[in-house]
Amino acid sequence: MSAPAAMPAAPNLAGDGRTDLVGYDLAALTALFVELGEPAFRARQLYRWIYNRGATDFAAMSDLAKPLRDLLAARFRVGRPGATSVLESFDGTTKWLLRLTDGNEVECVHIPETDRGALCVSSQVGCTLSCKFCHTGTQRLVRNLTAAEILGQVMLARDRFGEWPSPVEGRRITNIVMMGMGEPLYNWDNIAAALRLAMDGEGIAISRRRITLSTAGVAPMIRRCGEELGVNLAISLHAVTDELRDVLVPLNRKYPIAELLAACRGYPGLRNARRITFEYVMLKGVNDSADEARELVRLIAGIPAKVNLIPFNPWPGAPYERSDDDTIERFAEIVRRAGYPSPVRTPRGEDIMAACGQLKSASEKMRRGATAAPPA
Ligand code: SF4
Repeated sequence: MSAPAAMPAAPNLAGDGRTDLVGYDLAALTALFVELGEPAFRARQLYRWIYNRGATDFAAMSDLAKPLRDLLAARFRVGRPGATSVLESFDGTTKWLLRLTDGNEVECVHIPETDRGALCVSSQVGCTLSCKFCHTGTQRLVRNLTAAEILGQVMLARDRFGEWPSPVEGRRITNIVMMGMGEPLYNWDNIAAALRLAMDGEGIAISRRRITLSTAGVAPMIRRCGEELGVNLAISLHAVTDELRDVLVPLNRKYPIAELLAACRGYPGLRNARRITFEYVMLKGVNDSADEARELVRLIAGIPAKVNLIPFNPWPGAPYERSDDDTIERFAEIVRRAGYPSPVRTPRGEDIMAACGQLKSASEKMRRGATAAPPA
């Protein structure tokens, strides 16, 4: 059988040789059904079973004829990444360590708030970008995740919270943040495919206004992200001079601050109601002075923005310390007075190493030892 016309860029093969249908959009399922000699409208029924009702067993798809269900079950599956561990923090944060079909592992984190919750999703196994303050950056890049593996994180979390069929009210997963392991804009095709499926109102139905893609600053991809996905954009800025950002976020050597901010200024749909979030990790004595706060405000002048200040979350062997509370508050006050919201992020899930910048798969930790040193 030849491949369907609009199948995912990298279909996920299960260990048993069946193809995982997670990641297939409606066009791909329709093409598949045409090949199977089935009416095209059945593809929509299957689509809704997969993405609206969260079914993983073809036998449960009661409006499909039994012979078709049997045929699908023999050749396909509707999978989820396997969870090797699920850790819950005292603050309600949940972290999944997921084992992929090839044995690689990634992490995914749910951060609950009173009336909503964000799922922090990974885009790659490891990361090439080696941001100096980030634990994930000490793990070498193994590979990009497929669309199925990206979307599978959302679907697995929904399984756990019983959010099928896609509820309209009272969801525990209201937001998706592409801020887990990896640089999403270096895995564009799969991220775009997964997020389009996540946004589709007939399926998982999480609005683009509730999805944020965070990048370390892949400037040439920023416009495309806005035009094709229209999601919220977050930039891991972390420094106000190229000299320091070259060290903290080495990607800056390729796309320096001026080029990055020019790309931000051109982000489609930017307005006060739709601001860019600049993430700024607070590192004691490194990037947290009042002068740096003033320079930050000068740099982002004219960009509808908010500045998230992230007290550094330490990890074993980390080369930095968290800024003092007073220093963070002084920095925030300067930014706020310039007219930018500047919330200080409360660290979440620290006890299970699920906070920002702490993600790193347990298998990698075991290989390197729990007190692994950061990269030189
Ligand atoms: S902060 Fe993001 S881009 Fe930088 S090393 Fe960590 S995972 Fe990679």
